[in-house]
Formats: sequence, C-alpha cells, structure tokens
Amino acid sequence: MDAQHTIRRQISCVGIGLHSGNKVHLSLKPAVAGSGIRFRRTDLGDHEVPATIQHLAGIQLATGLARDQVSVETVEHLLAALVSMGVDNVIVELSSPEVPIMDGSAAPFIYLIQEAGIKRLQSCRRYLKIVRPIAISRGDKRIALYPSDHFKVTYSISYDHPLLRHQSRTLRITEESFIEEIAPARTFTFLKDVEMLRQNGLALGGSLENAVVLGETGVLNNALRFEDEFVRHKILDAIGDLALVGYPVIGHLVAHRAGHALHTEFAAKILEETQSWRLVEASLDTAVLPLASAVNSAAPRLAN
Ligand SMILES: [Zn+2]
Repeated sequence: MDAQHTIRRQISCVGIGLHSGNKVHLSLKPAVAGSGIRFRRTDLGDHEVPATIQHLAGIQLATGLARDQVSVETVEHLLAALVSMGVDNVIVELSSPEVPIMDGSAAPFIYLIQEAGIKRLQSCRRYLKIVRPIAISRGDKRIALYPSDHFKVTYSISYDHPLLRHQSRTLRITEESFIEEIAPARTFTFLKDVEMLRQNGLALGGSLENAVVLGETGVLNNALRFEDEFVRHKILDAIGDLALVGYPVIGHLVAHRAGHALHTEFAAKILEETQSWRLVEASLDTAVLPLASAVNSAAPRLAN
C-alpha cells in the first residue's frame, strides 16, 4: 500500500500573475488525508476552490478553476509540480486570482515543495489505473490513455514555425524524471501573438523572464534550457491538467497537438468512462477495489 502525502510545513513566495501583471502571495499549507489539493483565496474570505475537474472554468490560455463565482487562474504548472512530487493533500493560498508565473516553468514550485518537505499520512493513496483505452480527437488534435504499468507520457507538437515543425518525446514520469526533464521547461509564446494578447489585456506580466518568445526565425531569449524545451513544456501542462482527475493515473498518455482545452476535456472524459479504469491501492498492485467504490468516486462532468 502507498500512503497519501502532504507537505511538512507551510511555505510562501511572492510572484506576479502572467496575465494580470499583479503581485500575488502564494502559500502552501499542510492538509489532512483525503482533502486533496485546494486553492484558497485569502483576499476573498478564504473561499476555497478544489482542484478537480468539476470546478473547471475557463481554458483560454491557461487552466482556470472556479466555485461560486470565485476563480483561480493558471493553476497547471503548480498542480504538475505537486502531483509529480507525490503531494496528494495541500492548501494553496493565493492573495489574488492568478497563481504566480515565476519563471514560466514548474522548477520554482519544485524548490518550494522541497523546502517545505514531504510528510507521509496514515491513509492509503488510490490510483486510477487504465484498463481500456480512452481517446478523444478534434480535427488533427488527439489525446488518449492506454493501459500501462507506469505513468508515461508521449507528446508530439507541430506548428507552422521553423523551430517547431515537429517535436516529440516519450518519458516515464517519476518524481526524479519530472524534476530533471520536465519541471524546468518554460512556457512559450509567439511574438506575433504577444501584441494581440496585450491588446486584450492579457500577458501583462509576461516577459522574457517568464516565457520563451519565438520570433519569426528564432528564439528571442538568450538560450533554451533544452533543445526540445517546447514539447517538454507541453508534457508539463498535460500533467498539470490531468491532475484535475483527482487521482494519480497509471497509464500511457499519448497526445498530439493538444492544449489546455483538450487536456481538460479529456480529464472529464476519463471520469465518465468508468468501464475503462479501476481504482487500485498501490501503483504496482493488480488487485482492484470494489466497483461501487470506483463508481462513487467518478463524479459527473459539469460544463464550465
Ligand atoms: Zn504551461
């Protein structure tokens, strides 16, 4: 049996929101077993928004959640860091709607979680183990999960840009591989889109400090962190969006040209497809829980 985990002690940082450009205080606080990852708006009476697909609200350029008209935005990089570090339960306090963008990657959140430390809880962790394929395609965009003994991601992208005609990577996701291979990969954007975003009041906090910006022929930043940093960042986004399922997934995620909209639509579909997975109590355990337990855990999908 694998145990659930939280963080050992509270830890905080300050950053800016990518879209608002506003300063935001972020604190991570330990939470009890079974409570999951919950956002809390300290500027709005500590109103809580659980990080589950039922609270999905807005997937324009980043993933947002809302409950009773209170929203939190750009949650995906922090969620990816938390689930990849095995943090099942935590309270994420924010002093404004947006999770700080930090350097555009998940590396600063990894550092924060490592500083806080990980604490084992006296409660069993449950995994969602894929037993039959689940897939969605929208035009040339595709995403699917296949049975596998491990959580593995294959991602491929292709854009109409000389640097990004095709990138593809497959990686088995462990805490170590996430920290080394995925967490440092930064978000990216195209220079031609930046002006449009600004005119719409978005990306006001964006700069070369927190995003890789692609000009017509190359990258405006001095250097990339990986030759294929772009596809690695897509894997990071997919892991963060898949966290909204509410259980660590055991399966092989395969995505082509997907994005937040398709990732989150897929997260909802996974929970609907109750015949395609089982809840298991250890990552390598083949024993399955009683079906009633699984069905009760599959919450209905809610539109926006
Ligand atoms: Zn991202």
